[in-house]
Amino acid sequence: MVQAAVQRSDFGELIAPTYSPANLIPQIGEGSYVWDTNGRLYIDLAGGVAVTGLGHAHPELIAELRAQSELVWHVGNVFTNEPVLRLASQLTESTFASRVFFANSGAEANEAALKLARKVAFDKGAAASGKTEIVAFQNSFHGRTLFTVGVGGQPKYSTPFAPLPSSIKHLPFNDCEAALAGISEKTCAVIFELVQGESGVRPATEAFVNALRTRCDEVDALLIFDEVQTGVGRTGDLFAYMGYHVIPDILTTAKALGNGFPIGAMLTRSDLAEYFTAGSHGSTFGGNPLAAAVAAKVMEIVRRPETLEGVKVRHAFCMQRLEDIAARTGVFSEVRGRGMLIGAELSERYRGQSSRLVDCGYAAGVFTLMAGPDVLRLTPSLIIPLDVLAEAMDALSEAVTQFLT
Ligand SMILES: *Cc1c(COP(=O)(O)O)cnc(C)c1O
Repeated sequence: MVQAAVQRSDFGELIAPTYSPANLIPQIGEGSYVWDTNGRLYIDLAGGVAVTGLGHAHPELIAELRAQSELVWHVGNVFTNEPVLRLASQLTESTFASRVFFANSGAEANEAALKLARKVAFDKGAAASGKTEIVAFQNSFHGRTLFTVGVGGQPKYSTPFAPLPSSIKHLPFNDCEAALAGISEKTCAVIFELVQGESGVRPATEAFVNALRTRCDEVDALLIFDEVQTGVGRTGDLFAYMGYHVIPDILTTAKALGNGFPIGAMLTRSDLAEYFTAGSHGSTFGGNPLAAAVAAKVMEIVRRPETLEGVKVRHAFCMQRLEDIAARTGVFSEVRGRGMLIGAELSERYRGQSSRLVDCGYAAGVFTLMAGPDVLRLTPSLIIPLDVLAEAMDALSEAVTQFLT
C-alpha cells in the first residue's frame, strides 16, 4: 500500500482553519499511551477531549467493532437494528429514561433535546401562551449548531453567526436567586451542565441543581441535563445526575459514549418522547449499527462496578498530586472537578497561559487540555492504570517546572 506522506505543515493547506492543532501528530494509541509519527511516546490525559473514556484500542471494543463490521454497517432508519436496541436497553435499564433518540454528536443530541422541548410546548399551546423561552447559563457550552451555539453562554462563539434562534435567555451559573427570578411561566426548558466543562470545569452546587428542579416543576418547564461531557462514568457516577440525586426530564450524552466512534443520544421519559411522532425529527446516521455496537459495549464496561469504583481512586490520586504541585510551585490557585474531569485554575499571575502550559506538557510527554485561557483540564481514561497515572503526574510536574522557567 502506497500512501503519500503527510505532515503537520499540510494542515494549513488542506483544512479549514477552525482549529490550531499541536505540532505533533498522534499515530498510534494503546490504553493511555500514544505514539506520534516520530515514534515519540506520550501519556494521554486529554482522552480526545473527554471521549476515550476506556483508553485507546480497548480489546473488547476492537472485538465488538470487528464483529459488527462483518455483519452490517448501515441500514438506515427505515429499519431498526440489533445493536441500537441493545444500546437503548443499556441506557434505559441504567437511567431514569425509558426512551432514547440517537444522533451523532453532542450538539445533535442537544439539538434534539431543545427541539423536543419546543415541540412539547407547541403541542400544549405555546403559540397562544408564549411558552417558548429556553433558559441557559453564562459560560455554558452546548455545541456548535446554530441553535446550540445560541443556547450556549459564550457570545464569542455565537455573535458572528447572527441572527440566532430567538427566545433564549442566559442567567448566571450557580446563582439560585437569579434562577428563581429568571425562570418563569414563559420558560419551556432549562438546559445546563452539571459540571461546566469547556469553560473551566466548574461543578454546579447541589443547592443550585435542586433549585432548578423545583423551579422547573413550579412553572412546568423541562429540565435538560447536558451530560455530553459528564456522562458515561466521567464523574465517577454512570451519569453525573446520579451523584446529585436530582432527576432531569431530558438528558443528553455523547463524547465518551462511543469511545471515539461518533454517537450521541438524547434520553427521556416515554410521556415526553411521545411528542416526537414519526417524521418530527431524524438523522441518517443516528442509531448506526457500528456506532451502536461499540457504544453498547462501552456502556457494559463502564457499568461494571470496578470501573466506577476505579474512577474514585484515580480522582483522589490526581487531586493529591495536583495539590502537591500547587503547594510546591504556586502555579494553581484551585484544583477542582469530579471523577476524571479535573480542572486546575492558574494563579493570578499566570492567567491566560493555559495553552502555553499544555504545550509544556507536550514537551514533557503528556497530553492535557485547556478549559478556557485560565484553566488546565485533565480528562484521562477512566481505567488508566495507576502506575501510568503516576508517570503522567511526574511528566506534568516537569511541564510545570518548564512553564515556570
Ligand atoms: C463537547 C460538548 C458538546 C458538543 O458536543 P459535539 O460532539 O462537539 O457536538 C455539548 N455539550 C457539552 C457539555 C460538551 O462538553
